[in-house]
Amino acid sequence: MSNIRNLLENSSLLSGVSNDAISALCRRAELVELSVGKPFQRSGQLAPGPALVLQGRLRRIYQQPGSPPLSLGSVEANDWVGWASVVRGEPDLTLIASQITVLLLVPFSDAIEALRADQSLQQALAMPLFEETAVLLLQELERRGRAVAEPRQLIEELFGHWSLADPAADPSHGAIELLSGPRPASAMPIGALLNPQIRADLPLQVNGLSTRIICLPEERLADALGDFQPTKNNANALALRPEQLPVLLDRPGGESAEAHGFHRPEAEATAFATGATSRVEQALACISHLAKSRQLAFSADLVRRNLEDVEQRLGALKLPQVGLQLEAMGFDTRPMRARPWDLTRLEPPALIDLDGAFVMLLVAAGGSGVLIGDPRVGLQRWSVKQLEERLPNGVELLVIREGRTSRLKNETFGLGWFLPAFLRYPGLLSMTLITAFISQLLSAVFPLGVLAVIDQVISRNNISLLAPLTAVLVVAAIAAGITSAMRALVSADLSDRVDVRLGSTVVEHLMRLPLPYFEQRQVGVILFNVNQLYEIRKFIVDQLLGVGLDVIFALLFLVVLLAISPTLTLIVVGVAPILMIINIIASPVLIRLIKQSNGFAASASAFLYEVVSGIRTVKSQNFEVEARWQWLERYRKYTNTRFRLSQLASLIGETARLVSNLADVLLISLGAVLILANKLTIGALFAVKILSSQVVGPLLRLSSLWQGIQEMRIAVACLGDVMLAIPEVGEEDLQALPMPPIQGLVRFEEVSFRYGQRGPLILDQIDLVIQPGQFVGLVGLSGSGKSTLVQMIDRLYKPKNGRISIDGYDIEKLQIAGLRRRIGYVPQDSLLFEGTVLDNIRLNSPDASIEAVMEAARTAAAHDFILNLDNGYATRLGEKGSGLSGGQRQRVCLARTVLQDPSLLILDEATSALDAETERIVCTNLARRFTNITVLFITHRLTTLRNADRILFMNKGRICEDGSHDQLINQSGSYATLYRQQVQDGNV
Ligand code: ATP
Ligand code: MG
Repeated sequence: MSNIRNLLENSSLLSGVSNDAISALCRRAELVELSVGKPFQRSGQLAPGPALVLQGRLRRIYQQPGSPPLSLGSVEANDWVGWASVVRGEPDLTLIASQITVLLLVPFSDAIEALRADQSLQQALAMPLFEETAVLLLQELERRGRAVAEPRQLIEELFGHWSLADPAADPSHGAIELLSGPRPASAMPIGALLNPQIRADLPLQVNGLSTRIICLPEERLADALGDFQPTKNNANALALRPEQLPVLLDRPGGESAEAHGFHRPEAEATAFATGATSRVEQALACISHLAKSRQLAFSADLVRRNLEDVEQRLGALKLPQVGLQLEAMGFDTRPMRARPWDLTRLEPPALIDLDGAFVMLLVAAGGSGVLIGDPRVGLQRWSVKQLEERLPNGVELLVIREGRTSRLKNETFGLGWFLPAFLRYPGLLSMTLITAFISQLLSAVFPLGVLAVIDQVISRNNISLLAPLTAVLVVAAIAAGITSAMRALVSADLSDRVDVRLGSTVVEHLMRLPLPYFEQRQVGVILFNVNQLYEIRKFIVDQLLGVGLDVIFALLFLVVLLAISPTLTLIVVGVAPILMIINIIASPVLIRLIKQSNGFAASASAFLYEVVSGIRTVKSQNFEVEARWQWLERYRKYTNTRFRLSQLASLIGETARLVSNLADVLLISLGAVLILANKLTIGALFAVKILSSQVVGPLLRLSSLWQGIQEMRIAVACLGDVMLAIPEVGEEDLQALPMPPIQGLVRFEEVSFRYGQRGPLILDQIDLVIQPGQFVGLVGLSGSGKSTLVQMIDRLYKPKNGRISIDGYDIEKLQIAGLRRRIGYVPQDSLLFEGTVLDNIRLNSPDASIEAVMEAARTAAAHDFILNLDNGYATRLGEKGSGLSGGQRQRVCLARTVLQDPSLLILDEATSALDAETERIVCTNLARRFTNITVLFITHRLTTLRNADRILFMNKGRICEDGSHDQLINQSGSYATLYRQQVQDGNV
């Protein structure tokens, strides 16, 4: 006993621990001997208790279901193992004896009791433990989609930089904070990335143990990752062969977490058997399944409230709304309709609206059926036949992809960005390569066939060989036809899929860019940049893939050449450096010309786009001829550079051809000399000639590829202008608070704003509180900053200083999609889109019933005029709503926002084109319809606002008068003067 006590006291970990604790630990401690290969603990289970290694060595192994095990170094004599299990209540790494190992094992229950009771022991363990940093780092990397080749090295390098954060203190800045354990009763997954909100909800203690938050400076991680080569699958890199793990799966050992009072995550099978009967609960079960599988922290309460809120407003919760919630959490979703057969071929996961309940498609097993997680009953397997019986008409579903949840903040962008999109389709990619390979092989058959006919048939007068040779050539011709047709089809299929995948990524990114990005660029230029995507893809499929094969074949032919005649091969090979030099000399000019030509092309198309979209103004200002000239000037510049580019390209091409022709001449003459000297046969010269063209051909193509590569680099840079721009919401938005239902208390605290970096302050230290339910008029001279002020509430611009909050929530901390859904903002220049009037009103509430649409239209005083249109609500409008008058358009826009049923309504001169009487009717309708809702109403017609609860008068970025109509009139300030002027002018 005293021996055991000595051992414990002398271990450095326990050096500062009280005697009581040591006694508690020694009480039932025992020596355990493990033979080689025996596990001390297995992944998925807690350790049997903390143990001090006295002799021998244990190997640490990280094991994930479905991946090969990873070795993470070993635990040597005098080290402790198993404490991580005790303090976290989480299973961690597998530990296996790699030598005969003797341990001093403290039973789990003794250890946890001592830990709960003794502060000095808690202190001793208040530091990050190797096992927990290893597991959590690997999970974090996986969550970021970053796998590293040498995780062990990375884990060891970073180990010293982790620290334990106090859950009661403020979060540290610039550091990632991960929940290490013990698992709280809420749905929070272990390893969850914590943000201040989620962190504040964490209990300080769970199961009598302090909650452990471990943190690592983000910078450290970024630095360390920079040094490591990402690989596709980390598990492959340091994989152990199964025979190295003899008894890993031998027998289960360790402790059960529940037995010690810890919460366990629900297994997937039970996660779905929640008995959820309401649609909100079903949706929530599916969402939490997805969040758990991606280790996304989310607040179930807030999501539930959001969903309930939507259900209440729209009368029913449908797939698209659940999709919006998922999008807000960072997933990409795509609605579609699938027949039973399609279901079995879908890439899961997908959310299905099945028999009035939300269920998840978990596994699609091709022809043999699907596995569905049903929140009402649990997991269910359905065969194709069952699917066909139950769903003869197919089902509506949402395909769910990781989207932003899987993307890194600092994505790099280059040609390498495209490769994963191709690698996702290994079947099609290899088919493209195989067909290209066969085509290449067949292309060698013809010259050889011709050679054989000359050599064997003609010169030897051997007619009997002609028939088989002809047969071979015919078969080769047919095969060549078939393979090249197949190649065309397969590469078109591959291109389509890649286009859809990359296109959707690019457009998704584009849509997430902030308003200033678009204000700083012409639409035409943005479109030009986006379209470069297709140019790049075309280049990769048409040229890059082919050239790779060409080069391989060229090398192959080179070997044959070398075998036939080393001297002649030298001439063939000698062409390469000359071609290379030509390309290197020409490339700076080439790059300059390509850049110029791209710039001119973008400017010409942007100008044309602007002219065509403003054709009404162009015509009425009689600007057509001038516009054509201006366009022509830009277009000429483009064609001129393009011409110079072609000149240069053909100069390079022709020089290259000249060099190769000269080499040919040299080859033939030298060949002749060799033949005369009896060092070469005539047949061999023929073979050399044919083969050399197979070698030089690819070299020549490589040189034209050079231009392609330069164009590509520039195209990639153009696309990079889109892809490298920082979206208005980043990763942090995923962790942000989903928008809770709001009352409408808007508060500006010392908000200042200017467009761009310099320039005057457009909003100057605005302090403003708008009470819930108030109808507030916002007036002021043109350019005084009214539109800017209200756009800040919608987060279209970010304040330079100060803070804006709604119901006390800082809007910067709310999820942007939720915020904009709750705020109904009708901009000064709101747009209608091509489609029917009904489509336009239902733009952001596609499920709204026709009654709700009509009700909204009535509120916006639009119902009557819509009924008078040719086809009523089904009347088709042109682009930008052409076919309606300005005032009619405004009312349709207004109806659209009313239908959205916002919790805060902002109208920025949304009724400016209406006559005074209609404007007043709209205003009264709105005030009646939105009695309890905060309304901000901007107008220049002051009489409309006589009944507003409050009027704000803005001047030069400040609110200089504030009060009801009567109060402001009594103040006799600018408002009163302006009002009197308008009344006198008869502008009533
Ligand atoms: P109006 O009654 O004419 O609509 P307003 O009060 O709504 O005027 P804002 O649109 O807020 O005025 O504009 C305030 C100031 O900000 C103006 O001086 C304008 O020149 C400037 N401004 C507006 N939009 C931008 C922008 N996108 N970039 C740069 N400056 C802008
Ligand atoms: Mg304005």
